[in-house]
Amino acid sequence: MTRRLNWFLLIVLLVVGLPYYWLLIDNRPGSAAAKPVSIARLRELAASIPGQKPVAVEMELVAYRRLPGTLFVAGTGIKRRLIGVMAFRLPVPGKGPIVIDSGLDADAARRMEMEEFDPRSWARITAALNSASQIVITHEHPDHLGGLISLGKPELFQRTLFNARQLPGNSLSDGLRWPRVPLPAPAIAGAQPVAIAPGVVVIPAPSHTPGSQMIFVQLADGREYLFTGDIATLMSSWSELRARSRLVGDYLAPEARGEVFAWLKTIAALKAQAPAMIVVPGHDFERLVDIKRPTGIHFTFTDRAD
Ligand SMILES: [Zn+2]
Repeated sequence: MTRRLNWFLLIVLLVVGLPYYWLLIDNRPGSAAAKPVSIARLRELAASIPGQKPVAVEMELVAYRRLPGTLFVAGTGIKRRLIGVMAFRLPVPGKGPIVIDSGLDADAARRMEMEEFDPRSWARITAALNSASQIVITHEHPDHLGGLISLGKPELFQRTLFNARQLPGNSLSDGLRWPRVPLPAPAIAGAQPVAIAPGVVVIPAPSHTPGSQMIFVQLADGREYLFTGDIATLMSSWSELRARSRLVGDYLAPEARGEVFAWLKTIAALKAQAPAMIVVPGHDFERLVDIKRPTGIHFTFTDRAD
């Protein structure tokens, strides 16, 4: 009886425990080293284009769903976490705002099985995109780039600073519903960080997707932000060095896991060099509006220009 029970437990462990560990908990970062990006270089680039820097960071929450945390931050338990779909607006006096990411429309929210979708928030994101001087997208997934594509406006595409891998031509981008309108040439080229506006620097970071890029922002008053896209889904992704679960990162939405770890280490290194800088993960709405740990991000979009 006891021997039979032991065999039973061993088989349960092998059949259930090993896949559970491998798919939902495994977090070994491998040998990936942090990238040679320093805060000094980002600040130098932020100052390289003279002119008015953005004066604030505003955020919209257009949709959300709650899913087990371990799916997105492996090893953090099956308690459900709020996965927010957000867009960001940086007002620039004398110029239209800079918009980072575009959320998604009601159709895409249904397709992605969001629990809630806020049409008024989507209307504010649409207005911000329409008035934007520049649009920049963290990566080519439908909850970040999809909103912009669904509007289908050639003039908005022309104001978007794409990198080549975010445009049609790779399998992820090709899976998005691009309208048949002229698209711009990629504005971001090469592997090195590049300034796109006073105080705004794009950091090419292919990893979570081929077209992933992070955005460093230094506001006119000196406050600094690092928008990580989904390289860090939640704050604990980089602060605890935890990748997505293999179930998500290897199978459901495949990514270059070693490169994700390298960039998570890079985010932690940049934060260590600039402790006051606010890291803005791709989906951590609750952390970004936590009144106990203020981020200075204004929730929701305003009409302000200055
Ligand atoms: Zn996302």
